[in-house]
Amino acid sequence: VSTASLIEEPIHPPVQVNYTQLLINGDFVDSASGKTFPTLDPRTGEVIAHVAEGDAEDINRAVIAARKAFDEGPWPKMTGYERSCILNRFADLIEKHNDEIAALESWDSGKPYQQSYRSEIPTVARLMRYYAGWADKIHGLIVPADSQHHVQVLHEPIGVAGQIIPWNFPLLMYAWKVGPALACGNTIVLKTAEQTPLSALYVSKLLLEAGLPAGVLNVISGFGPTAGAAIASHMDVDKLAFTGSTDTGKIVLELSAKSNLKPVTLELGGKSPMIIMDDADIDRAVALAHVALFFNQGQCCSAGSRTFVHERIYDEFVEKAKARALKRIVGDPFKKGVEQGPQIDEEQFSKILRYIKSGIDSGATLVTGGDRIGNKGYYIQPTIFSDVQDEMKIAQDEIFGPVQSILKDLNEVIRRANASRYGLAAGVVTKNIDTANTLMRALRAGSVWINCFDVAGAAIPFGGYKMSGHGRERGIDSLMNYLQVKAVVTPLKEPCL
Ligand code: ADP
Repeated sequence: VSTASLIEEPIHPPVQVNYTQLLINGDFVDSASGKTFPTLDPRTGEVIAHVAEGDAEDINRAVIAARKAFDEGPWPKMTGYERSCILNRFADLIEKHNDEIAALESWDSGKPYQQSYRSEIPTVARLMRYYAGWADKIHGLIVPADSQHHVQVLHEPIGVAGQIIPWNFPLLMYAWKVGPALACGNTIVLKTAEQTPLSALYVSKLLLEAGLPAGVLNVISGFGPTAGAAIASHMDVDKLAFTGSTDTGKIVLELSAKSNLKPVTLELGGKSPMIIMDDADIDRAVALAHVALFFNQGQCCSAGSRTFVHERIYDEFVEKAKARALKRIVGDPFKKGVEQGPQIDEEQFSKILRYIKSGIDSGATLVTGGDRIGNKGYYIQPTIFSDVQDEMKIAQDEIFGPVQSILKDLNEVIRRANASRYGLAAGVVTKNIDTANTLMRALRAGSVWINCFDVAGAAIPFGGYKMSGHGRERGIDSLMNYLQVKAVVTPLKEPCL
C-alpha cells in the first residue's frame, strides 16, 4: 500500500465532542471574555471544535475555586483511603470509556488510534491506580532529636498546584501531573496545550462523576503567554509543574521567581543519544533505534535523536535503518496498521522541514525521506540523515519530528553523548555487560535504557539532568513535589520520679 492512499479520505473518528468549555469549580463555563479558539485536526488542518479560551481572569477564577476547595475542604481533609477510592473509580471510568477517549486523543493530536487505544489511555488508568495506591500510604516520620524533644515530621499537601502540559501526550501528561497532586491532597489549576484541549475536558468530567469534589480540579484551555503565564505568576498558586520546551521552562521559572517563588518542577526538551556498539545484533539495534526516534511522529522529549553507531557496523546499520524507514506506514491515524500520523500543527511541520533543509545544507547525507507527504495536513516522510557531525544543528537542536540523525564511530562517545545542553535520556545497545555498566554510569541523563528504549512504568521515575529540567515525575519521587514538610517539636516531660 502506498502511503498516499492511506491519507486521502480522512475517517470520521468514532466520537462526539461534548465538552468545550472551561472546568471551574465543578461546572463547565464559558471564558470571562466569551472568546473561543479553534482546535484543529492535524490530518487536514480543519476545525474540530471551538473551545473556550481561558485568560488571566479565568485562571484567577480557577485559583479562587481551588483555594477554597483546599482551605475549606473536603478534599485535603478526607482520609487517604477516601481519596484512593475516588482515584480508583476514575480509573474504572477511563477503562469503560477507553475507546471514546482514545478517539478524541487521536483526533486532536494525530497520533495513531491503536497507540491511544491500546497503550496510552490504558496507561492513564494504570497511573491513576498507582496514585490511588499511594493516597493512603503518605505519611511523615518521627525522627530523633539532639535534645529532650519529641520530633514529628509531617508531610502535608502543598496547596493549590498549577500545572501546564504539552500536546505530544496530552492525557499521559495530565495523568503524570494530576495523579500525584490529588493523591497528596492538593487542589489543581491545570492548563492544557492549545493544540490538544479536548481529552482532558472529557476525562475531567469522569473524575467529577467518580466523586471528586467541586473546585479540586479546574481545567483551563488557552494559550501559553496568557493563561499559562497567569498560572506561573499567580500569587496564590503554591506550586508549579511544567512540561514543555526548555525556552518556555525558563520563562515560567522566571515568572515564579518574580511572583511568589512557588517551587517549580520542569520536564523539558532532550537530544538523547542512542549508542550502538559493534557487538550488537544489528537487526535488533536498527529496530530499537527506529522506534526510539520515530515513535509518536518523533514528538517525544525522550526521542533517541542522536544515533551513534560503531564504524565497523555503520554502513550495514544505515542501509537497514533506511529499509525500515521506507517500510514505516504513514497515514490516517484512524486506519488500521498506521504507525505514523501527521505532525501536530503547521508550526511544528514547518519547523521540521526547516531542520531537514538545514541538515542538507550543512552537508549531512539525506538517506531517505526529506519531504512532506500529500498536500493536505501535516504528514512528513520518515527521514534519515547519515554522516551527521556533532556540531551540525540537526545533531544539537531538538527537532521533535520524524528525522533520524546517524553519527559515525564511537570514539570518545561518552564525552560526545554528554556534550549536550540536555540530559533527559540515553540508550545503549550492546551485549557486553562491562560496556553497559560503564556507559550506564557515565551518561548524564535521567533515564538510561540498556537494550531497550522508552520503557516506562508508573513506578519508574522520569525527568532530566541539565537543561532537560528538574524534579522527577512518576514513581515515589513525584510525590515529594506535591508535599510540604513540617517539623513539629515538643519538649519531652522531665522523667517522672
Ligand atoms: P511546544 O513548543 O512544544 O508547543 P511549549 O513549551 O511552547 O512547547 O508549550 C508547552 C506548554 O507551555 C503549553 O501548554 C503552552 O501553552 C505553554 N506555554 C507556552 N508559552 C508559555 C508562557 N509564556 N507561559 C506559560 N506557559 C506557556
